[in-house]
Amino acid sequence: MIILDVKAIEILDSRGNPTLQVEVVVEDGSKGRFTVPSGASTGIHEAHELRDENKNVYHGKSVQKAVNNVNGIINGELVDKNFTQKSLDEFLIKLDGTENKELLGANAILGVSIAFAKASAKYYNLPTYEYLFRLINGVNMTNKKFSDLGEVNLFANVINGGLHSGNALNIQEFMIIPCFGTMQEKVRAIVEIYQCLKVLIENDYGKSNTAVGDEGGFAPEISLAEQALSLLVKAVREANYEGQVCFALDAAASDFYDSKSKKYEVEKNLSLDYKKLTDYYNKLIEKYPLISIEDPFAEDDFEAFEYFRTNIVKLNSNNYLTCKKEVLIIGDDLLVTNPKRISIAKEKKLCNALLLKINQIGSLSESIEAFKMAKESNWHTIVSHRSGETCDDFISDLATAMNSSIKLGAPARGERVAKYNRLLNIFS
Ligand code: PGA
Ligand code: ZN
Repeated sequence: MIILDVKAIEILDSRGNPTLQVEVVVEDGSKGRFTVPSGASTGIHEAHELRDENKNVYHGKSVQKAVNNVNGIINGELVDKNFTQKSLDEFLIKLDGTENKELLGANAILGVSIAFAKASAKYYNLPTYEYLFRLINGVNMTNKKFSDLGEVNLFANVINGGLHSGNALNIQEFMIIPCFGTMQEKVRAIVEIYQCLKVLIENDYGKSNTAVGDEGGFAPEISLAEQALSLLVKAVREANYEGQVCFALDAAASDFYDSKSKKYEVEKNLSLDYKKLTDYYNKLIEKYPLISIEDPFAEDDFEAFEYFRTNIVKLNSNNYLTCKKEVLIIGDDLLVTNPKRISIAKEKKLCNALLLKINQIGSLSESIEAFKMAKESNWHTIVSHRSGETCDDFISDLATAMNSSIKLGAPARGERVAKYNRLLNIFS
């Protein structure tokens, strides 16, 4: 497909930080537009997000350099040339030439990569999820018959801690996963539980505690994981979904790891080594309907992950998501959607699930490669938003195309709700 134009502008994300919006126009005039998300608890091995670092402009966070790279060098190299998704991504990676995309910026490259995918879907007159499904599975774009949609499970982050809130909870995310029903029923369950949770927090901790964190979950002034988990138990009961909803944690443990003492301050004044932290997680798994823990240890603490995989308790019944008795150990900062890190994790048996964030690696083709590597090992895959988002709903299409779960925050704040609404449209 010939590219006619590529351009970027600077807009704002959900934290009011600048980010890139990229538009690509292809040969028949079809346009694709994508806005690049941004993390707060970013892994140190992520691809480079290029920011201007000028303290006088948006406190150093402006992205004019990345915008100029799209409008200048990238535009000059791409316009009037013919590309497939793969050849475009390979071309951009080569043009950048660095290991972590620091020259052009992973934000600039990803913006172009996904905007091109969206334009291509329009060119073939396909919904984005159907185009992506065919791209991933090598199905002809001109087929008349649409592919069957699989089940997409929802990880809804309804209590926020860690770097996404101002409270004293060190574990970053407390999620609910409806383990039944259609997309409409799953979304309805999340909303009903979320609203019961609000009333419970109001009653137990006062109205001022129902303010929300960066991902739309409540951020009450609590500090113990069990306080959060018991609020979830009560909210699920109150909303009449007992036995139908499972829980998940994202510890984001790199953020509470002290590399000097090699201890994890998992709760305020509770610092544990990785063996003790394993016992701590095991107790939570035995007491609550937890089926998944993301980043239970720091991103480079492979020894801890290896120990955890062999010492984690088994579930009493099959995990709804995998039909095995195993708890999901999800690698986010551990893997950074990077095929090289995934390959190490597979070899060392560090985890059994991939959190897939397209901006961690910086192109669609590499994200697809990461996805395929995870699937080869029968890992579960979860496409994920970032804490800094816009109303762009591309990840809902990607999760559907990958027949993956999706992590998408709470059903509050426009940028989170946009992802739910896109799924409701896809599955209507
Ligand atoms: P981030 O957090 O988007 O702020 O990096 C999300 C996560 O850790 O999963
Ligand atoms: Zn995470």
